[in-house]
Amino acid sequence: MDPYPLNILMASPEAVPFAKTGGLADVAGALPRELARLGHRVCLVIPRYGTIDGAALGLKEWRRLAVPTALGPIDAIIEQGTLPDGRGRVLAVRHDPYFDRAGLYQEAGRDYSDNLERFAFFSRAVLELLPILKEESGWVPDVFHAHDWQTALSLVYLRTLYAGPSPFHGLRTMFTIHNIGYQGLFPAMDYWKTGLGTELFTPKALEFYGSVSLLKGGLVFADFLTTVSPTYSREIQTPEFGFGLDGVLRERQDRLAGIVNGIDVDLWNPTADPYVPCRYSASDLSGKTVCKAALQREMNLPVRAEVPLLGIVSRLTEQKGLDLVADVLPELAMLDLQVVLLGSGDPAAEARFRALHAQFPRKVGLSIGFDEGLAHRIEAGADMLLMPSRYEPCGLSQLYSLRYGTVPIVRRTGGLADTVVPYSPQAIREGRATGFLFGEAAKDALLTTVLLALRVYAEGEEWKALIRAGMGTNVSWAKSARAYVELYRKMLELR
Ligand code: ADP
Repeated sequence: MDPYPLNILMASPEAVPFAKTGGLADVAGALPRELARLGHRVCLVIPRYGTIDGAALGLKEWRRLAVPTALGPIDAIIEQGTLPDGRGRVLAVRHDPYFDRAGLYQEAGRDYSDNLERFAFFSRAVLELLPILKEESGWVPDVFHAHDWQTALSLVYLRTLYAGPSPFHGLRTMFTIHNIGYQGLFPAMDYWKTGLGTELFTPKALEFYGSVSLLKGGLVFADFLTTVSPTYSREIQTPEFGFGLDGVLRERQDRLAGIVNGIDVDLWNPTADPYVPCRYSASDLSGKTVCKAALQREMNLPVRAEVPLLGIVSRLTEQKGLDLVADVLPELAMLDLQVVLLGSGDPAAEARFRALHAQFPRKVGLSIGFDEGLAHRIEAGADMLLMPSRYEPCGLSQLYSLRYGTVPIVRRTGGLADTVVPYSPQAIREGRATGFLFGEAAKDALLTTVLLALRVYAEGEEWKALIRAGMGTNVSWAKSARAYVELYRKMLELR
């Protein structure tokens, strides 16, 4: 328990188990819980989407308020609950016309046209809760931690519309960027809906080449910025990875840090995973062999213990670099190995993998779609996990792999570079090596590295060392949460 607990207000557009479209939801679900476990008093604010099963998750109406917005006051119902285990308070901002929809941000691939309005409303509602929380129980946050473009306006509002003497004057703010490719860009003609003065519609604040960038507002107005790995925090300061915001980030580099995400070690636990046919641990891997055979059967591949099995679980988007895998598959298929891919996304990529599956049915197992159970069975049953991402803010799949004794083969970028220790005979001797990394996002670099991995796999002893070191890696949220607390404290000392 932390002897000096902090009051932490967190705002996120999604959080497990309430709503999820990506890795952010895992962070926003796990981090507050871990912070609470360390003794801090956390309040998480999320939108109350219609897709949330409020009854099952224990959300109950708590307050009603009128949120001031550029469009006039808009009614909100605030529902209250807790994170699982009762740790950490959750407040959900309900306004059904905005949030009772089939998707979170889009439907059928099209963003909702009123996303600016929806998240401007949410961002203001978060701040309107401050005096209510104080009045209710005297709770005044020390730190306000907001995530991604959907909550960025709350950081701008706090320093503009809500500036001035108030009990929240000393509130320190942190803004976490989970993927700088998603910026919340809107047409200039919608700027008025933010409710902010035109003096902030400049390249120094919210303007981004003639559009409104909500993310940029967060980058400029937060006291401290973080992203989800140290390497990614450096990469986004370069034109190659910055999506046009690298200049803004370079200006703030002394206030920018990276903290690697943890994983839910209860949900992803090879000794107790309900999705896999046989549980196992680092001290007895025989269950992993059973998982491999079951996976081969499930994917209609020849059931053979000795053949190396490469797994992929991924969204099929440009970012993930799976076109490189498609490029090398015909060559890999000449070797004695198997590849299993679970993924969905870009229709062209899906079609390409379908064709490869049809061409090499005894080498390539394919499942197009989203399947949580199969994701677990691949992590458990595969020998290696391929993750050739062009960029990867943190990445979770490689962390699951480490825990499941599945050796990751990844590109040296972002969180992949920070979480996988590359194979070398010396790193093996020192018990540090956990996987294989390649540099260039090119077919040959991937192929060379896969061939090296196959050689080490065939030799056996070093492979066991890779598995041991991977399974022994601490990938828990407890470690990451402590790193956040350290930064919160550092931020509180800043003036
Ligand atoms: P990103 O958030 O960019 O998609 P991460 O590696 O951070 O990448 O997280 C991906 C998460 O989504 C992992 O938990 C992975 O298991 C899961 N995932 C991705 N694609 C699928 C799929 N088709 N079916 C099931 N789970 C998937």
